[in-house]
Amino acid sequence: MSLHLYPFLIRTVHSQAQFFNLSRFNTVHHYHRTLAFSARSIATTTITLRTAATAKRLLPSMSTSLEYTPDRAQELVDNLSDVVKRMEQTLQSKGDNAQKARLVAVSKYKPASDILAVYEKSGHCHFGENYVQELEEKSKELPKDIQWHFIGSLQSNKCKIVAAIPNLFVVETVDSAKKASTLDKACVSAARSEPLRIFLQINTSGEDTKSGMLPNEALEVAQHVVSSCPHLKLSGLMTIGSPNPDLDNGENPDFKTLNQCKATIEEALKITDLELSMGMSDDFERALLQGSTNVRIGSTIFGSRPKKTTVQ
Ligand SMILES: *Cc1c(COP(=O)(O)O)cnc(C)c1O
Repeated sequence: MSLHLYPFLIRTVHSQAQFFNLSRFNTVHHYHRTLAFSARSIATTTITLRTAATAKRLLPSMSTSLEYTPDRAQELVDNLSDVVKRMEQTLQSKGDNAQKARLVAVSKYKPASDILAVYEKSGHCHFGENYVQELEEKSKELPKDIQWHFIGSLQSNKCKIVAAIPNLFVVETVDSAKKASTLDKACVSAARSEPLRIFLQINTSGEDTKSGMLPNEALEVAQHVVSSCPHLKLSGLMTIGSPNPDLDNGENPDFKTLNQCKATIEEALKITDLELSMGMSDDFERALLQGSTNVRIGSTIFGSRPKKTTVQ
């Protein structure tokens, strides 16, 4: 079987809004078919990093080129394909034909060559990064039609750098009204042609260590974004949730809380279709069952990561 890349997945994005309409959700079955390819079709790509020294400083283990081996590409595409199949099966078992979910491949700490391998061999284009410097580096080196999700803790003094990334798809981690305003201003400086999509990050589990606003603050912040941040588009809500949720009737209470926030905001602000970004490697199937439209999967695709403290 040969490699089929769906043109809409890989073509250059002329307008972010236009692209969003076309493939707002890369439906799961597309991947399923897209992912069939033979090992022979894997070519090794060599593009030397422009700023290899910076990348090296940032990621000690990071390779200094975008070269990947056929074996690594195959492994990554197989992993991605497995996740897609599991997503598909979960949505099928739920029997809700209306629900579509996007897969965000979380590539933090992983070399740009891994991202390029996934992108070239599967056509997958949604990737998530947690660290501004790493996102900035990778976005410069990698294809311009990759759709980046910023999913890390957003610092006010980094908003300008984030907003200046042209192929930034969404900032998933806006955690206060003040941060929203800072990001809104940064979008003006960056002269973005369309409002920047944002999700509000909600600390549904109430853990001190988690970032995000509390559920009861979400409506006020949402209101602020809609009324006072013309360069942002409120597109959804995001949560991480407790790593050890108390499962009541099989439901994750944190995902339930995010659904409640969505209902409250949609009703009060008379808006519809807010996305729910919830679900990671360990809990994405449950998240899909509870209405997630955007799952963020890292280790199941790319393998385990070094602990944060050992890298920084
Ligand atoms: C790292 C990270 C993920 C991916 O986690 P895995 O468990 O590796 O799938 C998802 N979301 C956020 C916010 C993350 O920081």
